[in-house]
Amino acid sequence: MQDCLFCKIAAGEIGGPHVYEDEMVVAFDDISPQAPVHTLIIPKQHCANLNDEPDVALLGHILQVAHEVARIKGIDQSGYRVVQNNGPDAGQTVFHLHFHVIGGKELSLGMA
Ligand code: AMP
Ligand code: ZN
Repeated sequence: MQDCLFCKIAAGEIGGPHVYEDEMVVAFDDISPQAPVHTLIIPKQHCANLNDEPDVALLGHILQVAHEVARIKGIDQSGYRVVQNNGPDAGQTVFHLHFHVIGGKELSLGMA
């Protein structure tokens, strides 16, 4: 999709090195990390958020990749949180589906 920041990152047009990449997704470190580890996983194919009803195989794959990213970052055993925001009330700022993998410290217990 033209003028989509994360489409450009997925295509390798901008951004730094990828933490992980395969045929369906790309993972890269968040530009404004909220914890020692803060990595984003995005599909290569554009979709805005869960309201676009992305393919269930893709969604399942992304959760498996979340584990792989946590393993790569060395936080799979210490623990990590997977967060995904949809729309204004959730604070979504980039409208290309993304999952945050956050960890590397003891995270706050609050969810909302
Ligand atoms: P959300 O609030 O769920 O839409 O999250 C969007 C995330 O994208 C935020 O954590 C931003 O810090 C992050 N972000 C925005 N621009 C970039 C970028 N160019 N590279 C990496 N992360 C970015
Ligand atoms: Zn996009």
